[in-house]
Amino acid sequence: MAKPIIISVDDEPQVLNAINRDLLSNFGRDYRILKAGSGKDALEILQDLKKRNMSVALLIADQRMPEMEGTEYLEKSIAIFPNAKKVLLTAYADTNAAIMSINTIELDYYLMKPWDPPEEKLFPVLEDLLSDWMANTIPTYDGIRVAGTLWSASSHSVKDFLARNRIPYQWQDIEIDSEARKRVEQAQGESKLLPVIFFPDGDTLINPNNKSLAEKVGLKTEASAPFYDLIIIGGGPAGLGAAVYGASEGLKTLLIEKEATGGQAGTSSRIENYLGFPKGISGSDLAKRATDQSIRLGCEILTAREVDRIMVDQPYKTVCLKDGEELTCKALVIATGVTLKELHAPGVKELTGSGVYYGAALTEAQNYKDKHVFVIGGANSAGQGAMYFARYSSKITMLVRGSSLTKSMSQYLIDQIGNQENIEVITNTEVVKVEGENKLEKITYANKETGEEITADLAAMYIFIGAAAHTKLVDGIVTRNQAGFIPTGQDLIHDGKMPKGWNLQRIPSLLETDVPGIFAAGDVRQGAVRRVASAVGYGAIAVSLVHQYLKTV
Ligand SMILES: Cc1cc2nc3c(=O)[nH]c(=O)nc-3n(C[C@H](O)[C@H](O)[C@H](O)COP(=O)(O)OP(=O)(O)OC[C@H]3O[C@@H](n4cnc5c(N)ncnc54)[C@H](O)[C@@H]3O)c2cc1C
Repeated sequence: MAKPIIISVDDEPQVLNAINRDLLSNFGRDYRILKAGSGKDALEILQDLKKRNMSVALLIADQRMPEMEGTEYLEKSIAIFPNAKKVLLTAYADTNAAIMSINTIELDYYLMKPWDPPEEKLFPVLEDLLSDWMANTIPTYDGIRVAGTLWSASSHSVKDFLARNRIPYQWQDIEIDSEARKRVEQAQGESKLLPVIFFPDGDTLINPNNKSLAEKVGLKTEASAPFYDLIIIGGGPAGLGAAVYGASEGLKTLLIEKEATGGQAGTSSRIENYLGFPKGISGSDLAKRATDQSIRLGCEILTAREVDRIMVDQPYKTVCLKDGEELTCKALVIATGVTLKELHAPGVKELTGSGVYYGAALTEAQNYKDKHVFVIGGANSAGQGAMYFARYSSKITMLVRGSSLTKSMSQYLIDQIGNQENIEVITNTEVVKVEGENKLEKITYANKETGEEITADLAAMYIFIGAAAHTKLVDGIVTRNQAGFIPTGQDLIHDGKMPKGWNLQRIPSLLETDVPGIFAAGDVRQGAVRRVASAVGYGAIAVSLVHQYLKTV
C-alpha cells in the first residue's frame, strides 16, 4: 500500500525547509512528505495526487503567503481531499484569522511559528491528528473485506460492529462488484448467508456472531481470572471513566462490554461540548482514546460479551454472561446506559437494517450519497446525525414530533441546522408507515394537528426517538423505578426509611443501589444528566465510593 501523504506549503524557503526537515525526521517512515512554494503549486500537486488515487492525510500551510493566503488554499484543498487534516502555520498577529477558520474551513489546528522544540510543540499535535485521520479513513488496502448487499441487515450489523470497534475494513457490495460476488459465491458453498468476511491471512467468516468476529480481529473476549476487585458492566463513557480510575488506583478491574466501547457517545459523529476539545471530537476518536487509556492503566476489557444477570452472595457479586460463564467480584458498577427506543410504525421492524437504521449508523452514510434521507427525532443526537448525513446525502428531512426544535435541541445545533441548506425540518409530525420490497422505498407521515398525510420517496431513515434503560440484567436484584432506571443514594430513602432489605447502619452512598457494593453510574441512573462529561464524572466518583465500600468488607 502506498504511504499516505503529508504536504506543506510556504513561500518562505527557510520555513518550508524547516517544517519539511522536521516532518521527515518524525513521520518520514510512515508518510510521504511533500512540499510546495505556493498555494497554487500545492493545489496542482493535490489534483495530480487525486488523479493517481493517492491518500493525503495532512495539509500544512503558512497563513501569510502573498499570492494565496493559507486559509484560502486550505479551503480550496478541501474540495480535493475533504478528509485530510488541516493545520495553519501562524504568526501571533494571525490568531484571529486562525480561530475564525476553525469554523469556516474546519481547521484542525493552528500552530504558532516557530514550533521549537518540535518534540513538544509539533510532533504530539500532528501525531494526534494523524491517528484520528487513520481511525476515520477506509484505506484502499489489502486488509479485511466485508462483502454483502446494502439491503442485508446482517451485513449492516457486521459493518457497524467493526466500525464501532474501530477495526478498518473495506466494504464490497456484491450487487455492484461482480468480482466480489464470484468470491462470495465460492466461499458460501451451499449457504446463502451474508456477509462474507475475507481476512488477509486467507480465512473467511460467514455471517459470524459478534464474539467470533471480535476474536478474529484481535479484541479480547476472555477474562484472565475468575475473580476481580471491581467489575464494570458497560463500556460507555461512565464505564470507561470508572475503568480509568479503578485500574489506576490499584483495583483489579474488569470491564465487560456487549458491543463496542464508547457506548452511545461512540456513535456520535461529533461531540462539541466535551471539555478540552475546542473543535469537537468524534465519538469514535474519544472512545478509542479512553479505551487505550483504560487498558494502558491496567484495566482488562472484554468486548462482545453480554451480561445476562447478576447474583449476590454478600460480599460477593457474580456476573453471569450470556454464554453461561460466571465472574465474581467484591464491587460492581452498572454502567449499561440506555438504548434507542423502537419506533412502532408499520414496516419499520421489517425494514430495519435495509434502509431503516437506529441511531447514527455512520457506516451507512456514504451509501446514501446524493440521495434523500429522513431523520426521525428532534434531540441533539438527531441534530448531530442530520449534520453528518448532510455531508453525503442530497437532502435530509427531519421529522420532529414537537412544535419546534428549541425544547429538545442545543442552540448551537439549531443554528448549524438552520445554516445547512440541504436540511429541512418538519415539526408537529409523526411517522405513519414505511414501505418497500426488500429495501426502504417510501415513507408516509402525518401532521399531528391537521391529520394531513404525505407520502414521499426516500433512500434511508435514521431513527433517534429517545431512550430506554438497559437494566434487565439486574431484574429482581436491584430496585429500578417505573421507567427502568436505577435509583441510588438519597433517592432510595423514602419518609426517612432505608430501602427494603438494607441491613446496614449507614445509608446507601451517592451512587450505591439498594444492594451494598453495587453502584450505578451514567445514563442508567435515575435522574442522570445525559451527557458525556457527567457520565465520565460519575464513573470516576463511583470508584471513589467503591474504595470506601471495600474498606467495610
Ligand atoms: C448519537 C448521540 C450523540 C450524542 N452526543 C452527545 C454530545 O454531543 N454531548 C454529550 O455530552 N452527550 C451526547 N450524547 C449523550 C452521551 O453519549 C451519553 O450521555 C453517554 O454516552 C452516556 O454514557 P453511559 O456510559 O452512561 O452509557 P452508554 O453510552 O449508553 O454506554 C453503555 C454501554 O453499556 C453496554 N451494555 C449495555 N448492556 C450491557 C450488558 N448487559 N452487558 C454488557 N454491556 C452492556 C452498551 O453496549 C454500551 O456500550 C449523545 C448520544 C447519542 C446517542
